[in-house]
Amino acid sequence: MTKQPGDSFGTELDELGEFGLIDRLTKNIKLQQSSTHKGVGDDAAVIVPENDQMLVSSDMMLEGIHFDLTYTPLKHLGYKAVAVNISDIAAMNGTCSQITVNIGLSNKFSLEAVEELYEGIHQACAHYGCDLVGGDTTSSGTGLVISVTAIGSVASDKLVTRSEAKIHDLICVSGDLGAAYVGLQILEREKQVFLSDSEMQPQLEAYEYIVGRQLKAEARTDVVQWFYDSGIVPTAMIDISDGLASDLLHICKQSGVGARIYEDKLPIDTTTKDAALELKLNPTTVALNGGEDYELLFTVSQEHHGKVDDQQGISIIGHIMDASQGTEMSLAQGDLVTIEAQGWRHFGNSKSRGTIE
Ligand code: ADP
Ligand code: MG
Repeated sequence: MTKQPGDSFGTELDELGEFGLIDRLTKNIKLQQSSTHKGVGDDAAVIVPENDQMLVSSDMMLEGIHFDLTYTPLKHLGYKAVAVNISDIAAMNGTCSQITVNIGLSNKFSLEAVEELYEGIHQACAHYGCDLVGGDTTSSGTGLVISVTAIGSVASDKLVTRSEAKIHDLICVSGDLGAAYVGLQILEREKQVFLSDSEMQPQLEAYEYIVGRQLKAEARTDVVQWFYDSGIVPTAMIDISDGLASDLLHICKQSGVGARIYEDKLPIDTTTKDAALELKLNPTTVALNGGEDYELLFTVSQEHHGKVDDQQGISIIGHIMDASQGTEMSLAQGDLVTIEAQGWRHFGNSKSRGTIE
């Protein structure tokens, strides 16, 4: 624990003390991975890698910036903090075997609150089959900070980066897009209603799917397993955290290619569409720029067309082109628009650029 002057834990955490807290949070860990030789309890964890390529990824989440505890249950937050890191490992076509968790706690948190957060972390570890092997605990002056590092590996012949997409490759995406963003807008709307009249309870039943996509993020490790089982190694892959548009542009830029995607091929759930329209948002814009989908965007060579086409929950949304042809989307009515990191633009008319607002 890194004590800082002036920082203090709430009574219960104070009573427990640093080692008591760490003990409570980690005492029930059952190590699942043979690669974990030593977990929590020493100065460092000991891991014996199973594959030749190790993968390490880290993400930090700050209260007020990345999450709002008015509508985010701590258990879901703990789960999500792990899932988003595992998603990054999945996007390299790898599997996660260990995580470490660093937390900063302000004095408003009770032991029960921290235990709830850890329940989500433990659930995610159980679900994804990885071990919590260490971390650090510190007091924080302002709200909750949670930073997870995921450690994984992949065989070198299965490693997938963002930079090897080839002309004519198919562009594919798992699941559906835009739901997490629309879910967040609904949560924000209900929060404002609640703040103006605390008698008003949030009406979320109709939005269960999209709100769930925001609060209960999952990493698509099942898609990675399907790649292994069906003998597909994508040429490039990224997980969609910032939105399809921005993440497709990452692949195109790093692979030195262009792309053509089709608006009518974008997978958008009907609940997402309906809620987007209700919020006066364009469903296509939401699918392109929403972010936090944690779906996998990948490119595969044409030889795999049959396999990806047959696979439920995988959509072929376009194909890779020469860089000189740009990165464009063909709209349902036929117009071609240039994809930008935040929206799209009709040729010669930057004013019609779609934005997320
Ligand atoms: P040190 O002083 O050597 O850094 P700590 O007292 O911070 O050790 O931590 C003791 C053990 O508990 C270490 O194995 C560490 O990885 C683990 N640990 C500390 N904080 C956490 C946490 N928030 N979550 C999981 N493990 C933790
Ligand atoms: Mg430490």
